[in-house]
Amino acid sequence: MTSLTFHGGVNDIGGNKFLVKDKDTTLFMDFGMSFSQEGQFFSQFLNARGSNALEDMFELGILPKIKGLYRRDYAKHVGFGGDEETQVDGILLTHAHVDHCAYIPYLREDIPIYCSEESKLIMQNFDETGTDQYLTLKEKFKVYENNRGEISRAIGDKVKVPRNIKIFESGKEFNIDSISVQPLPVDHSIAGVHAFILQTSNGMIGNTADLRFHGRRSKDTEKFVEKCSESSLDYLLCEGTRVDAPPSITEYDVEDKVADIVNNTKGLAICGYPIRDLDRLLSFYESAKKTNRDLVIDMKQAYLLKLFHASENLRGQYPSPTDNNIKIYVPRGSWGLLDKNLEMFSDRQFYMDYAEWQREFLDYPNAVDYRDIKQNQNNFIFFCSDFKLQDLIDIKPDYGSTYIRSLTEPFDLEMELKEEQVKNWMVHFGVLKKEEDWHQIHVSGHGDGEQIKHVIEGSNAKKLIPIHTQHDEYHKKWHSNVVSVKQHESISM
Ligand SMILES: [Zn+2]
Repeated sequence: MTSLTFHGGVNDIGGNKFLVKDKDTTLFMDFGMSFSQEGQFFSQFLNARGSNALEDMFELGILPKIKGLYRRDYAKHVGFGGDEETQVDGILLTHAHVDHCAYIPYLREDIPIYCSEESKLIMQNFDETGTDQYLTLKEKFKVYENNRGEISRAIGDKVKVPRNIKIFESGKEFNIDSISVQPLPVDHSIAGVHAFILQTSNGMIGNTADLRFHGRRSKDTEKFVEKCSESSLDYLLCEGTRVDAPPSITEYDVEDKVADIVNNTKGLAICGYPIRDLDRLLSFYESAKKTNRDLVIDMKQAYLLKLFHASENLRGQYPSPTDNNIKIYVPRGSWGLLDKNLEMFSDRQFYMDYAEWQREFLDYPNAVDYRDIKQNQNNFIFFCSDFKLQDLIDIKPDYGSTYIRSLTEPFDLEMELKEEQVKNWMVHFGVLKKEEDWHQIHVSGHGDGEQIKHVIEGSNAKKLIPIHTQHDEYHKKWHSNVVSVKQHESISM
């Protein structure tokens, strides 16, 4: 028998966790976080407790209670086994957006994670520039006897355990026991997204992942639909995030519109876009070139470009971190020694002002700080994250500066408040003087209704399961055999 159980990602946008069982093979497709489910119980200052994370998540129904799935340190600490052998043969990851991957850090390190090289590098970026544990688990609750004979809590290298990351080749079929997997690239708002076609012993299953046709890789999405049609799918799990939306502009239009606005900007062009969306970075980079400016990125983006540039397979797809039209912004460090007299503090103290992963960029030839930007404002498009608006206090945008917001429009109260806050900053610096100065230039990572209809009709699957959506009525309009499932519900093939 082959079965599919939906532990998340149905009647919900994101949180995909699809359990596939075929003979003795057990897989998850994605292991993501549901914003809506977490938001019901948690917020910035109210989270699952580190000492009791699994229990807290089980209690609230956020994670499925499956023995052998979770990291042993957490499981043992809350009395949920931990010594058993795992039955899970792997996680197939479509892409490194948090609603598809954010709960990977909860998993046992010996469960293989099958992903694209891009997804691996993006997760590496999360780990190495932050505190995530996608590629390396840091064992908790571990003690050792120190040289005074006391019991100490182990930290650092003593607790690092690498996960079993298996990079698949785009388009190349591979087997996980009884299941054969075809990872097929699709267009979406992050690099390295792959849809899957699984051949099980009882039929074929397609999973669209998140996709669209209006980005830089629309041909990939088209090829995936063709592959689905050739594969006589028994089930297609088809995303429907924006099934109710009309057609939008394309990623190329974003590039052109940004260039137009920047062309008409006398001062600094300030922009905000999703920090890990390298295709959007590319749009701003191309606009910068068209307008004879340089794109100033932050250190996290520089780190990601560095990882991509170091990969033989991926080099050249995106600008290198030392590209002629890229500048790397050095913000004030923890003591703000950037513009202080270093004879008093020493060069060493200046480096100590930054996290280890940031330090190499301080010596890059294309590193800039607020003084460089302030003096030559019309030479730059300056990336300014919603969480680093204070940089503007140092830069002091000139009269005639502009702000381009290239992020999704707010769809909840928290996001509305955030946008209001950004507006306040822009008003404060005279960048936003009237409503028309607010430039919202964005396209979604998800296909609109017409695009999803094309995927559904073109794939020609026998049955259709709506995922990543709260609107299955559109799928029902476009397919005669729609199976709508509830969270934790299973279907057998
Ligand atoms: Zn996504």
